[in-house]
Amino acid sequence: MFDAILIEKPEDGDQTVSLTQLEPDALPEGDVRVAVAYSTLNYKDALAITGRGPVVRKFPMVPGIDFAGTVIESSHPDFSEGDRVVLNGWGVGETHWGGLAGEARVKGEWLIPLPDGIGMNQAMAIGTAGYTAMLCVMALERHGVTPDAGPVAVTGAAGGVGSVATAILSGLGYEVAAVTGRESETDYLKGLGASEILSRDEFTGKVRPLAKERWAAGIDVAGSTVLANLLSQVRYRGTVAACGLAAGMDLPTSVAPFILRGVTLAGVDSVMVPKPERIEAWTRLGTDLDLAKLDALSVELPLSQVIETAPRFLDGEVRGRIVVPVA
Ligand code: NDP
Repeated sequence: MFDAILIEKPEDGDQTVSLTQLEPDALPEGDVRVAVAYSTLNYKDALAITGRGPVVRKFPMVPGIDFAGTVIESSHPDFSEGDRVVLNGWGVGETHWGGLAGEARVKGEWLIPLPDGIGMNQAMAIGTAGYTAMLCVMALERHGVTPDAGPVAVTGAAGGVGSVATAILSGLGYEVAAVTGRESETDYLKGLGASEILSRDEFTGKVRPLAKERWAAGIDVAGSTVLANLLSQVRYRGTVAACGLAAGMDLPTSVAPFILRGVTLAGVDSVMVPKPERIEAWTRLGTDLDLAKLDALSVELPLSQVIETAPRFLDGEVRGRIVVPVA
């Protein structure tokens, strides 16, 4: 038996969430069974657990969109017992039981061998949020953004994606302007390498088609008015990597930044990214992220406290990353 968080929903009622015990036989189909050592609480997991967003597509569901652990048994040619693995996305925690449980059974093709040098707790301090931050940095690079191009604005900087993005960019030599709604996190963000802290209020006012050119690039987790304002402030031929909707799904912008300044809006999805790009992202996390900074940006939360913490997470009260020791 192992501990697991389970979300259930009767046909005619509201969902319920509980910490329960499951047997390996209950696990879904898959060719690799993993002893989960660490999982995390991501924004999406908090949406799933609270039911505030339509994340779970199939009930009952074990949430947890990522995990790190050790292979217990495998019939997949790439993995054998004892291998250290990490998983992000692929619908795990949405349509297939996820990481907030002592064991998981998944398709081997979803797993990435955890690079040497990254501990399992560190892999989950990075988690889907940090891996998405790396995908955002790679998107900026693909569009020719280099450290000497000028400052990069990171929104939601004190959150999971924003914290890791700030740490990666500053480590690579970029000048980072951290946009936050929490002035109290100034020292934290400077510690991660931000050179400037900006109030979120500067990005929530009326959106002008074009504003003063400030940023060579941006990484945005907010969407809505925040992203619209960011786009209007991006310099000629700059790029914004957009991955989130913390402020909303809408995007009240105009074509002006695109057709008058040649700005690129690069969408970033972490869920269905092809495997070679995932391997590249994890390899780069091993080399380009100062893993010592993970201690500052992550806290451990026991599995028993995950359910009660989920609403606080969505209310923006949580800093950085939450790592959940499961084993
Ligand atoms: P967090 O909750 O850790 O961080 C979100 C941050 O956004 C908050 O900490 C806060 O930062 C800021 N924020 C909160 N509310 C608002 C608001 N109303 N307006 C502007 N900013 C706000 O979440 P994550 O970092 O894990 O995820 C961030 C977003 O990215 C989420 O929308 C998530 O769904 C998305 N995401 C998308 C992925 C993909 O594959 N595309 C993968 C991973 C995440 P501060 O306090 O500094 O202002």
